[in-house]
Amino acid sequence: MGTNLEGLIFVLPNSKQMNPLSQRVINMSESATLAMAQKARDFKARGIDVISLSLGEPDFKTPKHIQEAAKEAIDSGKYFAYPPVAGYMDFREAIAKKFKDENNIDCAAANIVVSTGAKQSIANIMMSMLDPGDEVIVLSPYWVSYADVIKVAEGTPVYVQGDIDNNFKATAVQIEAAITEKTKMMIYSSPCNPSGEVFTKAEMDPIVKVMERYPNIYIVSDEIYEHINYTGEHISIGSYPTVADRVITVNGVAKAFAMTGWRIGYICAPLEIAKACTKIQGQFTSAASGISQRAALAAITTDLAPTRAMAAEYLERRQMVYDMLNEIPGFRTVMPSGAFYFLPQVSYYFGKSDGERTINNASDFCIYLLEEANVSLVTGEAFGVPDCVRLSYAASRED
Ligand code: PMP
Repeated sequence: MGTNLEGLIFVLPNSKQMNPLSQRVINMSESATLAMAQKARDFKARGIDVISLSLGEPDFKTPKHIQEAAKEAIDSGKYFAYPPVAGYMDFREAIAKKFKDENNIDCAAANIVVSTGAKQSIANIMMSMLDPGDEVIVLSPYWVSYADVIKVAEGTPVYVQGDIDNNFKATAVQIEAAITEKTKMMIYSSPCNPSGEVFTKAEMDPIVKVMERYPNIYIVSDEIYEHINYTGEHISIGSYPTVADRVITVNGVAKAFAMTGWRIGYICAPLEIAKACTKIQGQFTSAASGISQRAALAAITTDLAPTRAMAAEYLERRQMVYDMLNEIPGFRTVMPSGAFYFLPQVSYYFGKSDGERTINNASDFCIYLLEEANVSLVTGEAFGVPDCVRLSYAASRED
């Protein structure tokens, strides 16, 4: 019988049978950071010792008291059932308190949605808010996933390019020039992945002034690197009362508490948007893992000392890596103000050859470096800066 059916499938005149993939996924690019990390793993599997500087993955362990909170949650037996879609109420209350105390953002538990990582938070936002043709101003260089998630939600990314001479930061004037009647929102991260740059108050004030003139535009502020900031000042755009009712602030525990694998992110959003994100999440994945939520609750309500210690170590590594990058001929390196990335410009090498192979772009540069020196970086093409490569120093000093 099986053979007959198989035969039938081949004669059915239905081209869908031969084309299992949607146009949506075909048009989507693979996450370049994850792809590079996989390439490095493949090399390691072949016994080649690769120094991996491609992933934004803290090389620290989740602090002990957070691990203990997760163990207690398991032992209590109380957190094995489906949690409420938007997250446990006491966790959402604690997040709202964090936003109020640390970020001066006025919100309540009802504005908070907990998700399986900030990545899902951003996907929820785009799926909840964008209609086909809506434009999203993306400050560039930008985090890899913004562009593809916007496109999956049928929006159109409009990139506003920060100049290397302005530490890769887009200006208020540039942002205003990119606004059209189709602009639905603007998204950026500060501290920024991949540039490591941080908006100062002096830079944020004029951006807010522009946003005040366009009351229909929403602002998505990705603050996941909040605690890895060497300027001593973190500015949340949600703290400006004139635009606060249009700001969605994204954060999570991955970077601040070395909890990438626990998969907890969260947003603070206007009520209607928080409800819409909960609706989308309720259909896609339901709530984030209950045990991870209990661990994350401990993370955001207890001691920031381990976070500060990690940030202090990143600060020392930043100087070490900066000095080393400056010794490399042809690299142009900006000293970043936060996160744990460098974004050196490497276009000096484009068109150069070792006699056998020519490096024509940043991807070629990364592949060459991986194959010849067994060091993995990520091409800047993935972040809107095709003449740069991204290097993460969330790696051991030895690496
Ligand atoms: N935003 C930015 C800017 C990031 O760098 C990352 C992680 N690389 C995320 C969001 C996603 O974080 P999470 O691990 O919580 O999904």
